[in-house]
Amino acid sequence: MKRMYEHSEMARIASPDCKGCGRCCIDMGESVRLDPFDLHMLSVKTGKSFSGLLSADMIGLHAEDGIVLPHLSMGGTDSRCRFLSESMECSIHDCRPGLCRLFPLGREYTDGSFRYFIVEDACPRKTLSKVRISDWLGISDISRYTSFITSWHSFILRAKESAVKNRDGSYASALSSFIIKVFYETPYLTSEGIPAGLHDLTDFTRLFEMRLSAAKEAL
Ligand code: SF4
Ligand code: SF4
Repeated sequence: MKRMYEHSEMARIASPDCKGCGRCCIDMGESVRLDPFDLHMLSVKTGKSFSGLLSADMIGLHAEDGIVLPHLSMGGTDSRCRFLSESMECSIHDCRPGLCRLFPLGREYTDGSFRYFIVEDACPRKTLSKVRISDWLGISDISRYTSFITSWHSFILRAKESAVKNRDGSYASALSSFIIKVFYETPYLTSEGIPAGLHDLTDFTRLFEMRLSAAKEAL
């Protein structure tokens, strides 16, 4: 049985001798899925709106059980992440998406929460060293972030179940458009018009929770 971890625990996941083989950033297909916080930070970092990111082919859209959601685009001759430089460095490192922060960890959701596990052989380096998971993720307010991830996961799960149950394709399409509009297209700005979540997650999660309550009612 695989070992599960809390974010406060140490895990052997850090790759101090990373030579930038690119395995974690090249040829990832549609697997680097973006949650609303990822998209928000990407938008702040690049100065592009959701549609601007799509037009620039920095992100793409895919369907999961009928619900359309965004992912990081891969491209070029070696199908690499658009943000991976020629020297194999992440050009948006401080704003990289949650799944990039996790690597080589995965999340397993049970009973309305989640824990982490190490994805075996994800990183080919043999000398991985121990690091506290919360430090590895590099998120300032890990409790708020964990609560956001849990809420988002459970909402999307519900949306997918609803789309699968309602076999009318136009329902899934309308629901997808609604989710994209509410959670991804509409900027998360403070009352002063500043992008939320740059320094702490309080404003972002407050705005997110308001949208989530409205979306749950609509669902
Ligand atoms: S897979 Fe491991 S060694 Fe390769 S770039 Fe990613 S972290 Fe570095
Ligand atoms: S955003 Fe950065 S860490 Fe994530 S896949 Fe792209 S280059 Fe790699």
